[in-house]
Amino acid sequence: MKSRTPDFPAPPDAEKRKAIPPVICYPVDQLQVAPLELYFRARKNFELVESLEVPPREARTFDIPAGHFFRIVCVDGPQVGDLNLWQAENLKERFYSGKTRALHGTHLSTGDRLWSGFPYLRPLATITADTLDWYGFDEFGAGVHDVIGTRCDPYTSFLLNQTQYHHCCHSNLIRSLAQKTGLSKAEIEADVHDVLNVFMCTGFLQDTYQYFMKASPVRPGDYLEFFAEVNLLGALSACPEGDCGSEHSSDSSTCYPLRVEHYRPTNDELTKAGWRSPSINGYDRTHGMGN
Ligand SMILES: [Zn+2]
Repeated sequence: MKSRTPDFPAPPDAEKRKAIPPVICYPVDQLQVAPLELYFRARKNFELVESLEVPPREARTFDIPAGHFFRIVCVDGPQVGDLNLWQAENLKERFYSGKTRALHGTHLSTGDRLWSGFPYLRPLATITADTLDWYGFDEFGAGVHDVIGTRCDPYTSFLLNQTQYHHCCHSNLIRSLAQKTGLSKAEIEADVHDVLNVFMCTGFLQDTYQYFMKASPVRPGDYLEFFAEVNLLGALSACPEGDCGSEHSSDSSTCYPLRVEHYRPTNDELTKAGWRSPSINGYDRTHGMGN
């Protein structure tokens, strides 16, 4: 944290330096904008293919073909979900929350895209509906669906509390991915990555800028809907922190299941528009070293 009593004195022009206005790092108008109108047309009368329940303090994987939709649905009570996404045929291509944050801001909603890491850097999915978009930012500066936090994990838990807890989202995601792939927990651990915190309500304190969470405003029936830009393997953990209104990494919070619903378009709007999965990033990867 930044010291309230700095060791070094401010220079004479400190105020002038601090008064420089901010510049947006990645202006949105330079981004590949999602063709939302097309996705909305494709979504009309889509049909439910499969519904998957994710039990509390567990994770489940799911497959969504490119051009299909999926929803993460709050079922019985306020519950936060930690989402991982991979390109289904290549687990090395996975969701990159840090770059997604740099491009779209700290909290995601309709029209924002979930980008993959280097060297792919293309949209894996696009958010097409968010029933909590009314929340915006509250008086504490908190919003919903963040790409700030990482995922609750047993290592940080041990670091802070010396506990051995096995149902953090990190471990839940490992178990589900190991089961899906047949690989061991050791082989699969590095494939689990920073998440989209679905329904989680978070922000930074106004004074210390520490990361905080508060009870999620999500209620049964709320959902976050995605369009799959590529063939996706997803994994969703129903976080042991429940609605994230209290503590971390224990069995003391009230938890509820989440549901993943897979939808298939029933019209040919995508085909008519010539829609295809986005290509991987066009940078030549020579990194100034020649070929
Ligand atoms: Zn968690």
